[in-house]
Amino acid sequence: PVASARRPIRPLPDDLISQIAAGEVVERPASVVRELVDNALDAGARHVTVRLAGGGIRLVAVEDDGVGIPREELPLALQRHATSKIRDLDELEAVATMGFRGEALAAIASVAEVTLTSRSAEATDGCAWTLEAASGELRPAARPVGTTVEVRELFFRTPARRKFLKSEATELAHCIEAVRRHALARPEVAFAIWHEGRLLHHWPATTALVPELAWSRRVADALGDEFVEATLPVQAEAGPLRLRGLIVQPQAARGRADRQFAYVNGRYVRDKVIAHAVRSAYDDVLHGQLQPAYVLWLQIDPRAVDVNVHPTKIEVRFRDAGAVHQVVQHALEQALARPRAGEPAPPAP
Ligand code: ADP
Ligand code: MG
Repeated sequence: PVASARRPIRPLPDDLISQIAAGEVVERPASVVRELVDNALDAGARHVTVRLAGGGIRLVAVEDDGVGIPREELPLALQRHATSKIRDLDELEAVATMGFRGEALAAIASVAEVTLTSRSAEATDGCAWTLEAASGELRPAARPVGTTVEVRELFFRTPARRKFLKSEATELAHCIEAVRRHALARPEVAFAIWHEGRLLHHWPATTALVPELAWSRRVADALGDEFVEATLPVQAEAGPLRLRGLIVQPQAARGRADRQFAYVNGRYVRDKVIAHAVRSAYDDVLHGQLQPAYVLWLQIDPRAVDVNVHPTKIEVRFRDAGAVHQVVQHALEQALARPRAGEPAPPAP
């Protein structure tokens, strides 16, 4: 169409709207993994199993033992802007679940073949049901309470987007990283990752009376014992803000910034305020190209943080960014200044 030839304004068809939304939410197989694991955790799962094929391009399947979806609601799960997580503005402002936009499954189903199989904890028929997204076919199935979402052939109808995907090995690495990000925030949930019939990772659930112990166990499983051994604990509390974490000792820092995990209320985020506060705390002790490594968990009143900033919710906005910056920087500076066990205390000035 020529630019000057005006065409009438028309509402977009529904499936096109979903495809456009998918462009924001689904970039690669790892985005599918992120959304499906989010949903499993929101459903209260204690075991999450991720099965992949072809680096996640051919298959991403996430199986959970959460509350499940009742048969009559299965089609709603795939409907755009349909969610069980919030009902009104008030609930949006205090949202504590990973999801709330009711967009992910609809978006994924518009760019891949999706099958939902679920058995609801409330179901009285003792039966699971499978919904084929493309055909709308609903048939009985067998499985314990919980949900399995299978996503096949990502971008099969949009070859242009499929071409943007990297090698299977690279996509697989991103998928694993997506699960790792969740796993680091949820030590009480067991995670397993399979690729083409091979178990790649298994991070068992750890519950300890002291949450810090469960966390450091999970960090050791997901990032390696060496990582934990090279870190210092961080802890701070200020009003409604609570910070816990592990940060690398300066002498163990490396050149790669691949181990920087920040969480706000259990959600993995890329946040400039936190990153800057960390950088500032390391200012005097890290030189050149060395990068800080950290796992930081921040708990904050959900009303003091806006998570509805970015379609993938990877960015947040703090009501009082200054306070967050100060708590993080101060807590890290204290941890970095503290003498480690077995080392002589620095001489008094
Ligand atoms: P959102 O997570 O923002 O609500 P989704 O499109 O990801 O949107 O999911 C739509 C709805 O489907 C959810 O609100 C939830 O009720 C249901 N759902 C999706 N995945 C699961 C799951 N693994 N277990 C239970 N319910 C699920
Ligand atoms: Mg969701």
